[in-house]
Amino acid sequence: MSHKKYAVFTMDVETFADTECISSSGIPVDVDLMDGLEEYLKILDKYRIKSTLFTVGDLAPRIADRLRGYIAGGHRIALHSYAHIAPMTVPVEQFREKTRRAKQRLQELFDVDIVGFRAPCFSMDQARLDVLRELGFCYDSSYLDYLPARHTVKMDMEGFRQLRQNIFRRDQFYEFGLSKGKIFGQPFPISGGGYVRLSQWGFVKTLIQQYIHQNDYYVFYLHPFELTKQEVPFLKELKSYDKYYIKQGIRSYGRRIEQIILMLQKEGYEFVTFEQMVHLMNTESVRSG
Ligand SMILES: [Zn+2]
Repeated sequence: MSHKKYAVFTMDVETFADTECISSSGIPVDVDLMDGLEEYLKILDKYRIKSTLFTVGDLAPRIADRLRGYIAGGHRIALHSYAHIAPMTVPVEQFREKTRRAKQRLQELFDVDIVGFRAPCFSMDQARLDVLRELGFCYDSSYLDYLPARHTVKMDMEGFRQLRQNIFRRDQFYEFGLSKGKIFGQPFPISGGGYVRLSQWGFVKTLIQQYIHQNDYYVFYLHPFELTKQEVPFLKELKSYDKYYIKQGIRSYGRRIEQIILMLQKEGYEFVTFEQMVHLMNTESVRSG
């Protein structure tokens, strides 16, 4: 295959309190750790990479000026649900209504079309994908296909055509999945978040290297708190794994991200936003008939 190779750098723009283990614990936190958003874009700017920012609907008005500046700089805004609730935990009808309103809100706020969605916790199924299509979204990026993740189901991609590893198309709608490597025949997510931050670097770096060499599409994601320069609060009521999850590897994550960018550059990847991916895939499918 002589496909061009594409990498998409994204962030799920949400506060520290939106982090699943914190919101589900009900423990109050008084910091948002949103400075990680700026840290992330500083890294990407250094390599002239434009990112896709999946933003929580309720949060957007509070950081609207910053986001407008990022849009003016070439970054793209998409939706990360209305209030950071995993879609599979609410009825389809409720998901439809809240998503419709959140899309409209972001469009009015930023005067741009909101065409992309990513589900909190990658919690998505075919019925909810149908809702996104009805509401006029062009793509979703929630396909993780990794069942140990909370609130996820085995996502049925029936009716979709697979274009590349983890890229699916149905009519004009795309599902851009997350990347997974393989270790002893078992899948392991390598698209960022806690998976790349908490794993031993030599291990996850090898998986990423193998994956990007063999494939032609890679996605990276993370959350603002994962790059914060502030002190992550010690929450003694959290389970011990969750305490580890919210703290470990934050100081060195920026360096890991730069190394991943350099690995992708070396493999000839072009860095694009998901909106550009939609256009590229449309053009590719016209050319191939
Ligand atoms: Zn999220």
